[in-house]
Amino acid sequence: MVSRVIPVEPFDLVIFGGTGDLARRKILPGLYRRFLAGQMPAEARIIGAARSEMSDDDYRASIRAAIGEFVAKPKQDAATIAAFLERLRYVAIDATGDAGWDRLQEITRKDVIQAFYFSVAPTLFGPLAERLHQKGIACETCRIVVEKPFGRDLASARALNATLAEHFHERQIYRIDHYLGKETVQNLMAVRFGNILFEPLWNAQYVDHIQITVAETVGVGGRGAYYDKAGAMRDMVQNHLMQLLCLIAMEPPARFDPDAVRDEKVKVIRALDPVAPEEIVRGQYQANGREPGYREDAENPESLTESFVALRLHVSNWRWKGTPFYLRTGKKLKARTSEIAVVFKDPPHSIFGPQENRRGNVLAIKLQPNEGMTLRVTIKEPGPGGMRLVEVPLDMSFAEALGPNGTDIPDAYERLVMDVIRGNQTLFMRGDEVEAAWAWADPVIAGWEERGDRPFPYDPGSSGPEEAQILMHRDGRRWREIRE
Ligand code: NAP
Repeated sequence: MVSRVIPVEPFDLVIFGGTGDLARRKILPGLYRRFLAGQMPAEARIIGAARSEMSDDDYRASIRAAIGEFVAKPKQDAATIAAFLERLRYVAIDATGDAGWDRLQEITRKDVIQAFYFSVAPTLFGPLAERLHQKGIACETCRIVVEKPFGRDLASARALNATLAEHFHERQIYRIDHYLGKETVQNLMAVRFGNILFEPLWNAQYVDHIQITVAETVGVGGRGAYYDKAGAMRDMVQNHLMQLLCLIAMEPPARFDPDAVRDEKVKVIRALDPVAPEEIVRGQYQANGREPGYREDAENPESLTESFVALRLHVSNWRWKGTPFYLRTGKKLKARTSEIAVVFKDPPHSIFGPQENRRGNVLAIKLQPNEGMTLRVTIKEPGPGGMRLVEVPLDMSFAEALGPNGTDIPDAYERLVMDVIRGNQTLFMRGDEVEAAWAWADPVIAGWEERGDRPFPYDPGSSGPEEAQILMHRDGRRWREIRE
């Protein structure tokens, strides 16, 4: 199978924060891979922008090093790297001052697609939008890409949306949630809406419950100062897990176009019931003698911030009334994995009589580390001795099914940046979507803050606090094993 790569139109992409961690680790290596794939036209230019003074050549040298570090060795082709670096420029600029803006105005071309990536601290999103406008750099067709976090509550998200809206139309604003750029997430829509098989069963009548797990093995590491003010709910649930929930729960959009898809996602968020205190479990990893605990990592001995959260949610609409959605995410857990599991109900009647340890059908959608899907089905256990049933997975791992194209999956960032250049907003969050998610999350967070809830301790390398297991057991269900 040969993959089709359609080159995008010529563009100038300005990366504010072009020397930062995200730019070096994800954005520029991703752009290099797209260049290698032949998707970036010869006239494309990437302009790094940050306060540090450096020449174009210094910048190219630092990005050469980043490609050496963050691109897989077989993809590091010397001639292609040299040609890619030729596309790079650098402008020293201050997002909050006047330095550098005239130079940026001078070098950005008006006759190509212009995109401005805000890969800087969130406090600079507003000032950058203002300056791009005031300095006459932004035009009616240019695009801005806004990183996460988008606000820390409804009020701040609304304020940021209002500031951006003063200078840009909604069709120009690309709010990144890199989970939406993952191949499997898009595949989820292909599986749901490209097959007749699943959609008739995709409702409360046939689905017992849904589990969404995003587990990390790392702690808060160097991000302690930011994370301690955010916690798992703000950092992961309000955005990434909520987006996954929307894609699972939404109605089929009339067309696969940005507003049709995003309209359906917003409806899901608005249909969420308030979460009762007994439906939330917050956890914090504790020191175990070998590894530091969260409080040491975050350098806050009194911290009540959660590094783990598990919730039971209900989507109150015709399709989902009665089917709970269980979400959990945490740091320092036993394995790094992101997975959605749609757990179907048992058949209404077993013609085979009582069967022990029956587990029923599950569609498991794996987002990382190995993207793919498995469908667990029941078959007869081979051999004589009567009708014993056994569950086996129907495996749809992309690597096996699609050959080289199945393993060569673009990173989420490279796909999303190319979507910005193509002008496709489907995989980006709309302003009202972000606000709806905060409107849901705010009272949940306010609730535990008012009650002074303390997070339950859990051991690094475990599956989270015991109370999260109980959340499921109470309903006669259990979490799937956290494993790669
Ligand atoms: P970072 O490593 O701290 O980099 C910040 C960048 O901003 C640097 O290039 C810095 O260069 C530049 N900068 C700082 N102040 C500036 C100013 N006044 N004017 C112009 N440039 C300025 O941050 P990061 O980790 O790359 O994160 C960037 C954004 O992506 C943040 O919003 C973050 O939340 C988001 N994000 C990051 C990750 C990640 O894995 N790193 C993941 C998800 C989201 P100078 O100091 O030279 O100006």
